[in-house]
Amino acid sequence: MAEPMLRADVLALLSNCPVCGSAKADFTRWGTEEKSARVRFECSAVFSTFGDAEIEVSNRDQCPAPSRVAASALEREFSRGAA
Ligand SMILES: [Zn+2]
Repeated sequence: MAEPMLRADVLALLSNCPVCGSAKADFTRWGTEEKSARVRFECSAVFSTFGDAEIEVSNRDQCPAPSRVAASALEREFSRGAA
């Protein structure tokens, strides 16, 4: 029977920023049964969880991409209209 999945396992599976797709820059685990984890991406977004305290996954440093993604969507909208 498989071990129950930990929040740290969810972070361990990420190879790209879930917001913008930037590559993983580094990943560390620590604490009891390595339940705590922190992952940082090249866009500077950081997601972490502190397993010993059952702290939910949090986003310590935000991905700067959403505004860029929105700008790209607006630009596509413009291109469709201009075509
Ligand atoms: Zn990102």
